[in-house]
Amino acid sequence: VPIGLYISVPFCRSKCSYCNFASDVFSKAAYENYVARLLEDIASSRQFASELGCALDTNADSIYLGGGTPSILDASQLLRIFTTLRAQFTVTPDAETTVECAPGTLTPALIETLLQCGVNRVSLGVQSFIDREAQSVGRLHKRSIVLEEINRLREAGLANINIDLIAGLPHQTAESWAFSLSETIATGVPHASVYMLEIDQDSRLGRELIAGGARYHAHFVPDDDATADFYTQACEMLESAGLQQYEISNFARADVHVQDGELQNNESRHNLKYWTRQPYMGYGVDAHSMLAVDVQKDDRRQAVRFATPDSLDAYMNRTPLTVTPVSPQAAIEESFFLGLRLNRGIDLKSLMKLFKDCHSDPEIAGGEVPVVWKSAIQQCVQDGLLERQDSTLRLTARGRLLSNEVFARFLAEEKVGTGHVNPR
Ligand code: SF4
Repeated sequence: VPIGLYISVPFCRSKCSYCNFASDVFSKAAYENYVARLLEDIASSRQFASELGCALDTNADSIYLGGGTPSILDASQLLRIFTTLRAQFTVTPDAETTVECAPGTLTPALIETLLQCGVNRVSLGVQSFIDREAQSVGRLHKRSIVLEEINRLREAGLANINIDLIAGLPHQTAESWAFSLSETIATGVPHASVYMLEIDQDSRLGRELIAGGARYHAHFVPDDDATADFYTQACEMLESAGLQQYEISNFARADVHVQDGELQNNESRHNLKYWTRQPYMGYGVDAHSMLAVDVQKDDRRQAVRFATPDSLDAYMNRTPLTVTPVSPQAAIEESFFLGLRLNRGIDLKSLMKLFKDCHSDPEIAGGEVPVVWKSAIQQCVQDGLLERQDSTLRLTARGRLLSNEVFARFLAEEKVGTGHVNPR
């Protein structure tokens, strides 16, 4: 199976108040050392995979530079990353190659560099088309700049664009949110992602909201009900404008286009790898990977997940990776939860069949849904959170809104259940 490659670039021009990613503002001097370290890691991919007993396909059909703000690197640094990736992997002609870019940085020179790197998809962290909302959380762009840059990308032949939006930003109202959605639709971009503002201890705005303070415009953050309404509004408006929801936070136009002789739809191939448990390798700070093991040789592990440290210092100081073996039992669980994120849902029969050959549990080996899930499925169906059609199970619109609650119900059942599926 061709692999997906992820490169994390943890540098930003300024830190957004809501951001809980492992990114920060560093001096430009740090970039060069970081890129050198990335190149070293990419070059030793094969040796590393073999030490873990994992298979690593030589073909890659998706590359994703995220972070952080990858577009902050200079042209030579970006070119070296892509050259090293192409030296280690055979990048298929139809590969999806995405770079996350901060609006306000897409100069003609940067676009030229992206094209030289073979980039064919750009993801823009717009978050809001209302200048006051974007600026209240520390974004440095204005609506007019975003629109100008989208045109510039298109003129350069880079029309495969994603726009990220956040529901629940300070000062957001139903009207202003509708405006951001309408603007997104009016741009005609083929893909949009909508996230609800995350409130946790890992961001300045999150901590301020938890503490009940007023810094970072915290007192202008809409309440949970309003944010939930915004999410529902987004699903409805985007859907009726032809941007079909295919995952909890992701929407794509239904049309297909020809790229390098292959038919492509507009769904993010890279993200689909995560949700469908296809192999991927991540490089850099806070980068996650999952590689399959040969289950004929090792039936205790179906795959191995590993993650790099989430701080630049720890990464540069070569702090060891966190390695998590995935048992066949855990693989079923992962396929179930990740697959449910997709609107198409999961086919329970195929899921159980997929794993039955490598499982000693008689119930799973017999292709049955584990007992412990049956009651959670039934309860969620009754509560309108899941819908079941033959052996296909999927979240309802309400289930997507309350997906964390749905997943928590399954995990709670497992804890008190018969032990057929154990939390890792
Ligand atoms: S640009 Fe993105 S990664 Fe950087 S601080 Fe803002 S939200 Fe975080």
